[in-house]
Amino acid sequence: MSERDDVLRELRARARYYASLSSLGVPAAWTESLVPEPPAPAASRPPALAASTRRAAAPSAPPAPQSLLGAAPPPPDAPDLNGLDAPQALQAVRDWIGDCQRCKLAAGRKSIVFGQGHPQARLMFVGEAPGADEDVQGLAFVGRAGQLLTDIIEKGLKLPRAEVYICNVIKCRPPGNRNPEPDEILACQPFLERQILSVRPRLIVGLGKFACQFLLKTAEPITRLRGKMGSYLGIDVMPTYHPAYLLRNPGAKRDVWEDMKVVLQRLRD
Ligand code: SF4
Repeated sequence: MSERDDVLRELRARARYYASLSSLGVPAAWTESLVPEPPAPAASRPPALAASTRRAAAPSAPPAPQSLLGAAPPPPDAPDLNGLDAPQALQAVRDWIGDCQRCKLAAGRKSIVFGQGHPQARLMFVGEAPGADEDVQGLAFVGRAGQLLTDIIEKGLKLPRAEVYICNVIKCRPPGNRNPEPDEILACQPFLERQILSVRPRLIVGLGKFACQFLLKTAEPITRLRGKMGSYLGIDVMPTYHPAYLLRNPGAKRDVWEDMKVVLQRLRD
């Protein structure tokens, strides 16, 4: 199977995912028709060659994503991250975002909440979108839900919060904390993809339904996704509940702890 076929297959999967959001108006037939069906894989051909990556994986290093397969095609103005170390790559992504006006969320935001943490973190947390506190402070996961996330990281995983990387799928606050809409996801997702490829964590924890559905390209409910390891751009993904949900449903903390035990084990492997 050629790399082009792989890309087409990934694009079809992506189209199906966005079509699954079509209660907001994206017809499945329309999205799928944009992407031609790739030919069936030929068993005798070698697997697709990976695109070059910024650095080779050391034996003890996390498996680096080998290409942008699964990532949206980069917009023409996307920065070239090749040759940059993680802090430089993250800065290039932030510079690329600039004073972004690429979707309608720009009009109501106070801050672009890029995300923060260790640029070479082995563990990354991805939530949905900034809330009111995050919008004011310009930081991801502050406020009560942020404090609970800190507890999960520091009391549960026994890691300093500064050693992980935390961000959201969407960088600007949706009005009234509504769910992001498909056009907003499409506009913002290249930033998250390149953020992830800059940090290249060993594992991503998806926080809540929206982030988990985005990362795993599925419309399955979080109750079915939670606790089942998946992957995004070749990186392990553990879907779990959002801290804001845990504030409303403290009994679900037990489930999150079970998920964090798997995360800890995977980080030790
Ligand atoms: S949500 Fe993303 S795409 Fe939309 S304005 Fe903010 S940074 Fe730009």
